[in-house]
Amino acid sequence: AASRPRRALLLISDTGGGHRASAYAIRDAMNELYPGAFEWFIVDMWAEWTLWPFSSMPQSYQFLAKNPPLWRATYCYGSFPLTRRLTEEVTNAILHDRIRAAINCIRPDLVISLHPLTQMLPLRVLKKMGIRERIPFVTVVTDLGGAHATWFDPDADLVFVASDAVRQLAIRCGVHPERIRQHGLPVRPEFWADAERNYESELESLNRAQRILESRRAWRRRLGFLAEHRRTVLIVGGGDGVGGLTRIARAVVERLDALATELRAQSPPASPQFQVIVVCGRNERARNELTRWARERQSRHGDNAHTTETRTNLTVFGFVSNMGELMAAADAIVTKAGPGTIAEALIRGVPIMLSGFLPGQEEGNVPFVVNHGVGEYHQGPVAIANRLAEWLADETLLLRMAIRARDLGKPLATYEICQDIAELAQRFPGYPDTPNESDTIMGQAPGNM
Ligand code: UDP
Repeated sequence: AASRPRRALLLISDTGGGHRASAYAIRDAMNELYPGAFEWFIVDMWAEWTLWPFSSMPQSYQFLAKNPPLWRATYCYGSFPLTRRLTEEVTNAILHDRIRAAINCIRPDLVISLHPLTQMLPLRVLKKMGIRERIPFVTVVTDLGGAHATWFDPDADLVFVASDAVRQLAIRCGVHPERIRQHGLPVRPEFWADAERNYESELESLNRAQRILESRRAWRRRLGFLAEHRRTVLIVGGGDGVGGLTRIARAVVERLDALATELRAQSPPASPQFQVIVVCGRNERARNELTRWARERQSRHGDNAHTTETRTNLTVFGFVSNMGELMAAADAIVTKAGPGTIAEALIRGVPIMLSGFLPGQEEGNVPFVVNHGVGEYHQGPVAIANRLAEWLADETLLLRMAIRARDLGKPLATYEICQDIAELAQRFPGYPDTPNESDTIMGQAPGNM
């Protein structure tokens, strides 16, 4: 059995894009570190293994995410021990057999959970099946500054967290400190293959701040559509482009127009100029609105040389696949408090202006950013634009935050998580090669497996 690839079951649910993205990151890093050693099964446990209404969880989440008060209520419901316990018993009673059948179908040698609602049930099922001792179970928490209690099950063999705050939560929820590992959030390959770092090391004769500036200019040259010497702001709103992107982008561009004019009046020849990149993700409407607005601006001002210099350049994208490059070119990023974007911006050393958060799991990310001195949180497009203009007029402040961000960023976290998982997996025998009779007969998984 030792020579066959180990079957790794990754449990997620598509509530937001982060869980699946983290699962792919783990898989990619494992394949790079241990080629051919693992076979992958990435499963949206609730959508694929359960039945309605449980299976509609991803859709319910989308609905709730757009209605913060309802979302908060749902989040709290799951936090109270009594309601939580009740829900757990009910779901276990209804879903136990289905989960068992699905596990018998996949026959995993290890289980990696990347979702707050995929601990309790699979762990109970594995235990009841009598194979829990054979199959390691780890949880990779994909939240950053705070996390829901359901993430933490004392029975998990390892729990990976990305901050002191979440480590404390895990301990409070009964996880033994020796089972907790703190490396950082898993991020996509783009963020480990760190060309920028290599580039910076070629410039070792410069001090750190100069190196950061030089590296950003190099990325602007490389990307082509950016002006090398303009101070650059990246505005994003997660994969779905949420959080009032259009209004924020317009306020920022207009404020920077005004700032460039003010600074030009003070020190005409060398005054800084600005450019803004907006990534709308899957939000087509924001993309269309902003593209139209950018065109109107262009035709309103024409190519008058005087206004072209102080006018902020604006580039609008939909969903991009080179976020790491855009971040590497940016002096600051404006984003909602999404854990993925924050972790990536830190790796790239970009100061973070937080424009909002999803109540519940993104709330803790605000103090995480603010208390580490790598960014600020402001409410409303005008406040965001005004404070951002102050940042951009003060290069020293920006660079101080940039250096702190880079120190806090964890480009190697994905590898370190994978090394711990591989080491753990070696110590367990895995799924029995000869399952018992009844399981083979039941081995037909339900639903759309
Ligand atoms: N992202 C991307 N292209 C886009 C927009 C977003 O690759 O056009 C990525 C971004 O780099 C990050 C993730 O999508 O990895 C967003 O994760 P986050 O946790 O910030 O927010 P979510 O979308 O999960 O709410």
